[in-house]
Amino acid sequence: MNVCIVGTGYVGLVSAACFAEMGNDICCVDVNPKVVETLRAGRIHIFEPGLEDLVKRNTEQGRLHFTTDLAEGISTAQVVFVAVGTPCGEDGSCDLQYVEAVAREVGQCMTSPKIVVDKSTVPVGTADRVRAIIAEELAKRNEDISFDVVSNPEFLKEGDAVNDFMKPDRVIVGTENEETATVLKTLYAPFARSREKLIVMGVRSAEMTKYAANCMLATKISFINEVANICERVGANVTEVRAGIGSDSRIGYSFIYPGVGYGGSCFPKDVKALIGTAKEYGYEAKLIQSVDDVNNVQKGVLAEKIKAYFEPQGGVAGRTLAMWGIAFKANTDDIREASAVRIIRELTSLGMKIRAFDPVANERAREEVGDIEGLEIMDSQEAVLEGADALAVVTDWNQFRNPDFGKIKEQLKAPIVFDGRNLYDPAAMGEAGFAYFSIGRQPVA
Ligand code: NAD
Repeated sequence: MNVCIVGTGYVGLVSAACFAEMGNDICCVDVNPKVVETLRAGRIHIFEPGLEDLVKRNTEQGRLHFTTDLAEGISTAQVVFVAVGTPCGEDGSCDLQYVEAVAREVGQCMTSPKIVVDKSTVPVGTADRVRAIIAEELAKRNEDISFDVVSNPEFLKEGDAVNDFMKPDRVIVGTENEETATVLKTLYAPFARSREKLIVMGVRSAEMTKYAANCMLATKISFINEVANICERVGANVTEVRAGIGSDSRIGYSFIYPGVGYGGSCFPKDVKALIGTAKEYGYEAKLIQSVDDVNNVQKGVLAEKIKAYFEPQGGVAGRTLAMWGIAFKANTDDIREASAVRIIRELTSLGMKIRAFDPVANERAREEVGDIEGLEIMDSQEAVLEGADALAVVTDWNQFRNPDFGKIKEQLKAPIVFDGRNLYDPAAMGEAGFAYFSIGRQPVA
């Protein structure tokens, strides 16, 4: 099938590479010429395990092409995926300017029938809006070319995106048109081989499904973080509590890890967007609002622990903190809405120096937050420790899980660890002579 994918970020590029791998002919369009240049050279501009090989192989075999020219990209395509960003607007609502710009351009330059697929996460009603924009542009040109607009939200997660796309839990197709559904079923057949995996539903239900899924996952995270905060105060241990509740099959173990709050490019903005959509329709989404509120508090919890520890010794000003991890989670270079950035901003504003290291997000962090005064981004996990007053672990990278504590002790000025991901065992840390503070467990001082 000839397919065009507009937007070559985490979602667009992964979708493109996976569709190409199944033998389809894919043309990717991105407004950023630098990105297109990089991709044409067989390299990728984001970190995503397994993606570079897939892109390289399919480009070499002639199934994957890249351009900045949308007219060229859609010329032979039967299906056009819109996978551009939908960031949070200033009022928390979803900013649809990129999606609308693509719809306008498609309407301006399409010369044959198209199925336009909203893959970006967009509020309920966006497919109708995209349909209206394309129709408006066609009318301006006095053209009467048939087209359809479908919602096909994406559920992949950064860090495991290729695997998620190749073996999805489900594929949601929102359309009332049977012919359109058949085209998408054909395209997705290699990924959703068991029939139940491809769920066809109304367009608005499909748009809502994506928000409901992300809000449910965010709710689980905020729930366990709230439980963790109560555990700390009442003398309980959240790791034990998690084991106790996760064993109930109605609850399950997944997504109930306490930590420094959720970040990234999806949960924070999608939670806010659903609150905003509900409000537009006169409904106050109290539970989802609380999920957001709890998360905002949680993102500051590690900084609070660090401030509280140093308070009796004159505060954090002039001290140095070694930080492991900047990315919002392991296996990605994405630092959008990362808790680390919030902690860095808060503590450096109080005069603390931060030396941070991330296995893959350093470069991105230098570009985006490298100018924060008091922040130094370093290229080695060990180098950040040298002479620092304490270590804070913020991202759950595997390489932080089993470090040489003897060496850490030698390098730090004093053996103090603030663990925002509960990677270490408090008893073992105590025995090793560390002061150790984690989430939802009793401190070892
Ligand atoms: P991204 O920011 O990584 O990539 C978006 C790309 O679109 C950029 O390369 C940008 O240059 C390009 N772009 C913007 N305007 C354009 C235009 N007019 N024409 C062509 N290209 C244009 O975004 P992402 O993380 O891939 O997310 C895309 C969408 O998918 C968002 O709605 C997001 O919420 C959703 N989503 C993301 C994830 C994820 O894990 N990142 C998962 C599921 C869904």
